[in-house]
Amino acid sequence: MARYTGAECRQCRREGAKLFLKGERCYSDKCAFARRSTVPGQHGPNQARKKTSEYGLQLRAKQKAKKYYGVLESQFAKYFDMGNRQAGMSGENLLRILESRLDNVVYRAGYAMSRKEARQLVLHRHFTVNGQIVNIPSYLLKAGDVIAVRDTDNGKLKECVEKNASRPVPVWMSKNAEHMSVTVDRMPERSEIDLEVEEHLIVELYSK
Ligand code: SF4
Repeated sequence: MARYTGAECRQCRREGAKLFLKGERCYSDKCAFARRSTVPGQHGPNQARKKTSEYGLQLRAKQKAKKYYGVLESQFAKYFDMGNRQAGMSGENLLRILESRLDNVVYRAGYAMSRKEARQLVLHRHFTVNGQIVNIPSYLLKAGDVIAVRDTDNGKLKECVEKNASRPVPVWMSKNAEHMSVTVDRMPERSEIDLEVEEHLIVELYSK
C-alpha cells in the first residue's frame, strides 16, 4: 500500500483521536480534531450512530496505531510477527517495537515536531546512534543506545528543541540537553506509551 498523501487532519477525525501528524499545529488551538471531531465525509456524522462490527473495531484499532507511527501496512504486519514471536503479550510487544523506531525516539526526544519530520531528519543524516550515522527511520533501538544530533549548531534543530521544551520526554529515556543527545535507558512499559488503543483488537485481527 502506498503512503497516504491526503489531508492529515482527516485521518485524526477518521480514527476519533489526535494522532499528532502535523507538528506544531497539533499542539495549538488550530487543531482540526479539537474543532470538529466528527468522522469525515458527507455521511460522517451519521456513522457515529451506526453499530460497528467486531471486524470494524479491530480494523480501526490497527489503522489508528499504523497511522500514529506512520508505518506502512507490510511493515506493520512485520512488526506484529516480531512481537508475536517474543515472550509476553503480543500487543504490548508490538507497541514497544513501534516505540523503539529511530524516527519515533527522535520525535519523542523533541528533535522534531512530528514523526514525519523526524523521518525526514533521519533520512538526511542528522543523527548518530552510538556514534555511527544512521539514516534509516525504521532502525530499531535497544536499551543503552545513545542517539545524538550530529550538528549541534543546526538552527532548525535548535529551534525545534526550543519549541518542544514544554513537551515531556518519556521516562524510559534520558536527555542530555547540553550535548543534544538522548539515551534509551530501557524499553517502555505499556502504561508509559500514550497511544490510546486496545492492542488486543490488533492481535485478534492478525490472528484470524
Ligand atoms: Fe490531528 Fe489535530 Fe494534528 Fe490535525 S492538527 S494532524 S487533527 S492532531
